[in-house]
Amino acid sequence: DLILSVKNLTADVDGTPILKGLNLDVRAGEVHAIMGPNGSGKSTFSKVLAGHPAYTVTGGEVVFQGQNLLEMEAADRARSGVFLAFQYPLEIPGVSNLDFLRVAYNSRRKAQGLEEVDAFDFDDLVEEKLEIVKMNSSFLNRSVNEGFSGGEKKRNEILQMAILEPKLAILDETDSGLDIDALKIVANGVNQLTSPENATIMITHYQRLLDYIVPDFVHVMAQGQIIRSGGKELALELESRGYDWVLEEALGVG
Ligand code: ADP
Ligand code: MG
Ligand code: MG
Repeated sequence: DLILSVKNLTADVDGTPILKGLNLDVRAGEVHAIMGPNGSGKSTFSKVLAGHPAYTVTGGEVVFQGQNLLEMEAADRARSGVFLAFQYPLEIPGVSNLDFLRVAYNSRRKAQGLEEVDAFDFDDLVEEKLEIVKMNSSFLNRSVNEGFSGGEKKRNEILQMAILEPKLAILDETDSGLDIDALKIVANGVNQLTSPENATIMITHYQRLLDYIVPDFVHVMAQGQIIRSGGKELALELESRGYDWVLEEALGVG
């Protein structure tokens, strides 16, 4: 029940190496937290998994549900169940949130060999999912993320996730910029969506989110590698001691 297996992954941006031999295995039912200093490559890792064109994989392998993920187009990765909630969600002027969600949903259903749903049935589904993130249905008729507050964008990302029911959800600093009430709504949404069949990778700077979404594993990323892994107690230790001691132990720098 290995969902994702990353072996010795290296990747460049504009010829500059950013990921430098990253290893990670994620099994069904698991929640992994990736923490680490700014600039360590966390967002790069999530974008490489999603197939973002700005990043060039230079070595290593990524297997997702038995398939070579690196050979798949970004759209195919999404359709087959890889979901990335961006650190900075994109605005798509002129495209209604509802249309965007329906197209994405039907595209995912097609990839699963299921029939597309019509607009009426989709409306019912969305209404149900809005509950999970406590969003008002007026957000559906607005352009995707346009004029949304930071917290509304993050909740909209979780709404997308609730609708797409990904096999692997990657949340990149979904907690950043959220006040405590929004954080609880987002965390509660994620907790409702985790199941024994899917897996979640949460990238976060702060232990705070992990009070609400309890990870099975915590990893520290630095200089493009995962340099330490542990259980949820590692996040607490990082909170009280910072990252320097881990860097020192793993890399001999501080
Ligand atoms: P983190 O998410 O851990 O803060 P990032 O993955 O965003 O780290 O960045 C890792 C390094 O890669 C940083 O030095 C950053 O400046 C660089 N980087 C990331 N994306 C780009 C890009 N599109 N163009 C140039 N440099 C980038
Ligand atoms: Mg980042
Ligand atoms: Mg759950």
